[in-house]
Amino acid sequence: MDLEVPDHLRPLRERVLRFVEDRVYPLEPVLDRGMHDDQEAADAMRRLMAEARSEGLWALGHPAEIGGGGLSFLDYVYVNEVIGRSEQALWALGTHSLQDSLMLQMHASDEIKERYLLPLVRGDIIQSFGMTEPDVASSDPTQLQASARLEGGEWVINGHKWFTSHAHLAAFTTVMVRTEPEVQGSGAFSMIVVPTDTPGYEIVRAVPTMGSTDGDHCEVVYHDVRVPEGNLIGARGRGFLIGQQRLGPGRIFHCMRWLGQAQRAFDLMCERATTRVAFGSPLADKQFVQEMIFETAAEIRACRLLTLDAARRIDAGDPARVEVGTIKVLGARMLHNAIDRAIQVFGAKGVTSDTPLDRMYRHARFARIYDGPDEVHKATVTRILLAPYRSRDRPATNGSRTTSEAGVPAR
Ligand SMILES: Cc1cc2nc3c(=O)[nH]c(=O)nc-3n(C[C@H](O)[C@H](O)[C@H](O)COP(=O)(O)OP(=O)(O)OC[C@H]3O[C@@H](n4cnc5c(N)ncnc54)[C@H](O)[C@@H]3O)c2cc1C
Repeated sequence: MDLEVPDHLRPLRERVLRFVEDRVYPLEPVLDRGMHDDQEAADAMRRLMAEARSEGLWALGHPAEIGGGGLSFLDYVYVNEVIGRSEQALWALGTHSLQDSLMLQMHASDEIKERYLLPLVRGDIIQSFGMTEPDVASSDPTQLQASARLEGGEWVINGHKWFTSHAHLAAFTTVMVRTEPEVQGSGAFSMIVVPTDTPGYEIVRAVPTMGSTDGDHCEVVYHDVRVPEGNLIGARGRGFLIGQQRLGPGRIFHCMRWLGQAQRAFDLMCERATTRVAFGSPLADKQFVQEMIFETAAEIRACRLLTLDAARRIDAGDPARVEVGTIKVLGARMLHNAIDRAIQVFGAKGVTSDTPLDRMYRHARFARIYDGPDEVHKATVTRILLAPYRSRDRPATNGSRTTSEAGVPAR
């Protein structure tokens, strides 16, 4: 497989990279203070967003018909790799809303599209997504308790969610709730758009996480929240499927972002290793440090290959469940390892806020939990891998009948 960026994308990718490195990086210390509480951060972000728009770099992966740049899925995958070098660049370049925009474009009514989707893509408003609940293990969403009942043409919603990221900044939350109490399992849930200023929608707190003061992940209580019946996304009982659909390509986007972050950590590590001298020579001359550089480069390259393979399969219409589950686990691990090693090579400076590594490290730790914890993906992938061995139609002992060389069931 060719790892190279396609020729037609190089100029655009380079312009995006320049924007991220030259304009977003220097502002990160300000932006990291959080748009919610800090006026200087909010103003700086608004300026960057305006620059991105005027330079044709805004929302590049969003479909053109909803106001985006209209890049194809695969082209965007390569561009996303450089956007992902900075978490703040996702906001500055208008790409953070992509998953939710695609979901609304595919499933929302025309009225919801007009009111929320188009302003979302323009960057006039922010979205949030509410599935996880503090009181149940939400890796198994069939346990979710929040509910909605139809009453006089309105949904009446009650429940308790948390980790509704950015709800304190958002104009609306797409919430997953139980609407079909008589149905068992995944068919019991629907998605409903709830404006965050609806009476009864109460943000209890923005939960601080791992030393961050700017809690982004909100705990939200719904007390008899009433929204119009037409705020339903897709059909009743299809919430689970819509959620899965939202996450599939989203995991490819995450992995490409993580590759960008890992590359940034690698660059920082190598710059430090070649300029810092200990015991008479640069750190880069020490074999233990070289090992860290080697392992990081190898993991980045392997992960990139796997991610691009998964992306191409998805682009060809294959759900690629084995590949996507695999890269979600390996990608998050690769990211964590890369940043961890960079911190090690930086020594004490690596754990200070004088480099971006401390914040990157926190995000890397999150990556092993959101969009499905590692263990859930491992269980899913392993179930698929074992299926042919468990069935009567077992592969021949050399595996050649039903498995590929990689041990992945032949399609
Ligand atoms: C930074 C961040 C942002 C997030 N943003 C959002 C958001 O915007 N909206 C939203 O709705 N949610 C969000 N989440 C929540 C995330 O989706 C959930 O944390 C995740 O689904 C796991 O649910 P849980 O926390 O209830 O963990 P639990 O379900 O309680 O699981 C705890 C642990 O149990 C283990 N485990 C679970 N199932 C299995 C299994 N089958 N086999 C083996 N081990 C297992 C895993 O180690 C897992 O980490 C976010 C989380 C983080 C960290």
